[in-house]
Amino acid sequence: MEIRYPVGYRYKEGGPGSGNFGHAGRPGMRGGSAPKGGGAWSPVIEQKEQEIINAPIEHGIVVAEDGTVLVETSGRSNSIKFTWEETSKMKGAILTHNHPNGTTFSGADVQLALSNNVAALRAVGVRDGRKLRYILKLGPQVREMSSNQVFKKYIGPIEESLMTRTIEQIHTNQITLKEANRDHAHKLWTEVSQAMAVDGLVFDYSQRDW
Ligand SMILES: [Zn+2]
Repeated sequence: MEIRYPVGYRYKEGGPGSGNFGHAGRPGMRGGSAPKGGGAWSPVIEQKEQEIINAPIEHGIVVAEDGTVLVETSGRSNSIKFTWEETSKMKGAILTHNHPNGTTFSGADVQLALSNNVAALRAVGVRDGRKLRYILKLGPQVREMSSNQVFKKYIGPIEESLMTRTIEQIHTNQITLKEANRDHAHKLWTEVSQAMAVDGLVFDYSQRDW
């Protein structure tokens, strides 16, 4: 299975390169329900997120809508590998993890969520002293799409366009390279969220302070 995850763009002095991430956003509200706040899963997830937000390595937790903890695992400072058995429990569940550098979802995070039909993907971390929580809710119709479809139709083309606009902003000194790299993934998920909402699809991305 060969999928290219474009969310890895790194702006460099002098032109395109490859290899990194960045981060946060806003919701769309059509096309069915994602898990509602205040469900049985909610206090369980919040407790777990409290426990992992300052951890130096990544921890991943999968919670069912009824609040049952299905998976608890850990990885390295910038990744977690889930086993097949663990990913097989993700369908319709809420997947949270921490990012020790406080950035938003990577392309691999979103790909994992889409491939395993999670109802919501979350990440917590501290960046520049700010405790942040990233949330991506996936509506039923989006969960029925393959990750490839979503990457092809939305994420890929939107990232291309974002890169073109960002390079222009760098060249005209509207933003610095550092800002461009820091904000790339956040802008991408925000724009994907908006574009899918126009098509009636729930890919509801947000960044919140703790
Ligand atoms: Zn992640």
